[in-house]
Amino acid sequence: MDHPRYGDRPIDSGYNYSEDEVRNSYWGYRREDIFIETAIPADLEKQNFPTFPRKLYVDIRRKCIQCERWFIFFAKEQKYWYEELGFIIDADCVKCVECRKKEQGIKQLISEYEKLLKNTSRTESETINLKKIAQELYEFGYIKNKQKVDSIA
Ligand SMILES: [Zn+2]
Repeated sequence: MDHPRYGDRPIDSGYNYSEDEVRNSYWGYRREDIFIETAIPADLEKQNFPTFPRKLYVDIRRKCIQCERWFIFFAKEQKYWYEELGFIIDADCVKCVECRKKEQGIKQLISEYEKLLKNTSRTESETINLKKIAQELYEFGYIKNKQKVDSIA
């Protein structure tokens, strides 16, 4: 399964964490199918965790609970979820990007995005909404440039 932003194979991070370091960095990794060489450090200050943080992110091989195809929940994707989008750390990814896209009603998001973007007299709450939609579209690979999301204010 090809992810529009991260591709279809594990991404070697260049860090050299040992298997123990990675497995012990988050309780949930003990039973996961992970790619050790993809681990990247987390910024714990930005995480939203009730009990245990994820000290490292690592590419995880998963089977989509909806279509049953294999996909990777990427370390970089996790960093984005947990540090930029503010998802709680135990929020888990159980569906592939295609199934998630369908659920999100992507067409509606795009038309909403275009409408808000054209509106030159947006209220503050409309701007917040626009930013949220832009982040989702970025996550799904519809917006390629992160700058475009960050510049919404
Ligand atoms: Zn799926």
